Amino acid sequence: MAFDSLLLSVLACPICKGSLVWHTHPDTKAPELVCKFDRLAFPVLGDAPILIEQKARSLLLAEYEQVK
Ligand SMILES: [Zn+2]
Repeated sequence: MAFDSLLLSVLACPICKGSLVWHTHPDTKAPELVCKFDRLAFPVLGDAPILIEQKARSLLLAEYEQVK
């Protein structure tokens, strides 16, 4: 993974501007960036996080519990 914690620290949720945490999609194992406040998971394509609200998916409650 090309991201380091420094880069992650400058990424922010496009909706609430909050911090994001790494998450792995339980089915596809694809990396995602999660906003815990909005309970949304943003996809990461290659090295590029897609921080667009329309591209995000809502986390299931069970997934949300895992990233708390
Ligand atoms: Zn947010």
